[in-house]
Amino acid sequence: MSTTTSLRIAKFGGTSVADFDAMNRSADIVLADPAVRIVVLSASAGITNLLVALAEGVAQEQRDVHLEKIRHIQYAIIDRLSHPQVIREEIDRMLENVARLSEAAALATSNALTDELVSHGELMSTLLFVEILRQRQVSAEWFDVRKIMRTNDRFGRAEPDCDTLSALTRSQLQPRLAESLIITQGFIGSEAKGRTTTLGRGGSDYTAALLGEALNVDRIDIWTDVPGIYTTDPRVVPTAHRIDQITFEEAAEMATFGAKVLHPATLLPAVRSDIPVFVGSSKDPSAGGTLVCNKTENPPLFRALALRRKQTLITLHSLNMLHARGFLAEVFSILARHNISVDLITTSEVNVALTLDTTGSTSAGDGLLSSAMLTELSSLCRVEVEENLSLVALIGNQLSQACGVGKEVFGVLEPFNIRLICYGASSHNLCFLVPGNDAERVVQTLHHSLFE
Ligand code: ASP
Ligand code: MG
Repeated sequence: MSTTTSLRIAKFGGTSVADFDAMNRSADIVLADPAVRIVVLSASAGITNLLVALAEGVAQEQRDVHLEKIRHIQYAIIDRLSHPQVIREEIDRMLENVARLSEAAALATSNALTDELVSHGELMSTLLFVEILRQRQVSAEWFDVRKIMRTNDRFGRAEPDCDTLSALTRSQLQPRLAESLIITQGFIGSEAKGRTTTLGRGGSDYTAALLGEALNVDRIDIWTDVPGIYTTDPRVVPTAHRIDQITFEEAAEMATFGAKVLHPATLLPAVRSDIPVFVGSSKDPSAGGTLVCNKTENPPLFRALALRRKQTLITLHSLNMLHARGFLAEVFSILARHNISVDLITTSEVNVALTLDTTGSTSAGDGLLSSAMLTELSSLCRVEVEENLSLVALIGNQLSQACGVGKEVFGVLEPFNIRLICYGASSHNLCFLVPGNDAERVVQTLHHSLFE
């Protein structure tokens, strides 16, 4: 392929290959764009979870139920094909592997065995998708991504070797693109000894970004079940609208503050190689989507609102703080010892207020504040804990350089109690805490005044 021809990679998530109709819709999307020469697929929705459960080693009865569910999902696709015979045999072979590996896992599980087992979800969905395309008279080739996606042997969270990937892509994958459409697996790879690895749950986006980078594509299309990224969660604000273009930086801020958007960490190869990523819904491709890129034209002051619930605020009071040195260092070392991650922080002469995310993503274990930690803090200062607050994050550009932001934001929030404000550390966000019960109304009020 000449490098001037445009080349795109399309990735379809689990819901986009969940059943026969979904696979056909995804096939329509692929065929509508001649620049798409390579397709990355997740496992059909539900399959990975079932395989993970099997890999954990379940009793025979439960095992049979899970295996039957997997068979049912894949057979529902096979049964709608006009020539099911050959593919049925192939899928049967895969299902036999799955049954055999599940039995082994019931005796003794291991991370290597888990990855081997779980990889069958993507192996099967790609086989089925190729068959659907072929029965539609499209020349399509199944490509085992493990041949080029070489990783270390950290099973379950393997990290790919990008130099090897790039070399192997050039020798093994690139030449094939001119001949037929290539269908390959997201999420899986292989380590030095040839054993199957996985890149971590949800890893198919990462695969698409890595392959997109290695192939130097001009766009990565991520097809999912939502038509792009919204100004805020449409379940909270029905008038929320789709953002047509957004920067990786803004999307990262949104993800950090709890918005369910593509996580830019998984798109890192696209960010560093400056490849735009399109996000759209395979259920409704004509609805358009969001283009995520390094730069957008006229970045707006206000971009989006994110809401994170279940925040805990800790306030520390100590007269020792007065003109003291090292008090904060002591506080942070206690928190670090207890594996607690601090989100927002404000300080005054004798007080420090900070939030800990207790949803489990950034704090340790069950997300509850351990009494051991509180006891340690209490030996240092007076401690107050407030629970059930919500963090509202306004994401935007050059927020701390603009005038009047405070009035525009807090002017309309007059009826509400604002418990804490963080502003100025990042020019991309302004965050504040409100009582949990008010959170939705705060977001609705702000959205109405800033985005509608
Ligand atoms: N099938 C894998 C999962 O469910 C990978 C992916 O869908 O991205 O996590
Ligand atoms: Mg996914």
